[in-house]
Amino acid sequence: MSTNWTSYFREQLPDMVEELRTYVEMETPTHNKEAVDRLGLYIAERFRELGCRVERLPQQTYGDQLRIEYGEGEEQVLILGHFDTVKEIGTLQKEPLREENGRLYGPGTYDMKSGIVFAYFALRAIISHGLPLSKKLVFFWNTDEEIGSVSSEQLIRAEAKRSKYTLVLEPAAGDGSLKTSRKGGGEFFLTATGRAAHAGNDHAIGVNAIEELAHHVLAIQSFTDYAAGTTLSVGTIKGGSVSNVVPDWATAEIDVRIESRAEAERITRLMNQLAPVLPGAELKLEGGIAKPPMERSAGTEKLFLLAQEQARLEGFELTEQGVGGTSDGNFAADAGCPTLDGLGPAGDGAHASHEHIVLDAIPGRVAVLLRLLTAL
Ligand SMILES: [Zn+2]
Repeated sequence: MSTNWTSYFREQLPDMVEELRTYVEMETPTHNKEAVDRLGLYIAERFRELGCRVERLPQQTYGDQLRIEYGEGEEQVLILGHFDTVKEIGTLQKEPLREENGRLYGPGTYDMKSGIVFAYFALRAIISHGLPLSKKLVFFWNTDEEIGSVSSEQLIRAEAKRSKYTLVLEPAAGDGSLKTSRKGGGEFFLTATGRAAHAGNDHAIGVNAIEELAHHVLAIQSFTDYAAGTTLSVGTIKGGSVSNVVPDWATAEIDVRIESRAEAERITRLMNQLAPVLPGAELKLEGGIAKPPMERSAGTEKLFLLAQEQARLEGFELTEQGVGGTSDGNFAADAGCPTLDGLGPAGDGAHASHEHIVLDAIPGRVAVLLRLLTAL
């Protein structure tokens, strides 16, 4: 394949931006099923026009999931992305889609509607040039990634199990790097109960739930192990009602990030071993490590090297990074499928008002995606 695909996609850049405009102008906060389904219908139609087999997997609460197939073969490559966003309807009015200094700003541009547009244009070019594919492509466009993939996790895991490789079109790291590992994590909720009493008259018979919880706050913070990539942060703490009553209730929310399954197990064990310190106090632990880490497996390394080779053919260097944030790539990797993430746009400002993508980086990145899809 001697074509310079970067120049090819540079010519298509205005069309790609127009396509992305359509996506961005249909705002898609995760919890608004009707709004998400509206864009879902549009995306389904666009891929159907290319000759794909499109399945809408109906969901009750969140948007219908989209599973789209192209090509034939026993073996398949899974391409993952999501079209829900964290931005409420109306954000577009405050943060309109606009181009400034080579950047395209707007809600969902970076995280990650442009990733789906990349896939659409890469596939369209594969079809129009008659490029052969050795495996079937399965695109899974998720509608509830931003709230933890509640209705899609099992579907994604099952699809990853059936796949040889998973490519995730989430945004690149800040410098354009692909993402070869992601921390896993979750949230714990620890609640202490004690015995309420008048703080002046009956101090001795009270069991102070805040005091009980304080012991555990310090213990939990000490579970952090930077060398192992493990962090725990007690993020909120609440308890008591008024100062002259010994509080019988206090609760804390704890953010956990881990880099390996072993650390996930260590932390889960330690959290479950927390036991009441004060006589008469009780503890209740809820939550857990919901997202497994995406570890940099041998399969992921192989995929990255292949992507790097494709980038060199296009005349640029691709680098890799491990990151703290999670994506559906965590589920695919945990299902045992070699996974490469961050193949979407370069840019910045996910979940923020300065969300944008770098226009100049798009043609090269879509070129790499096209080459990867035809090389796998
Ligand atoms: Zn995302």
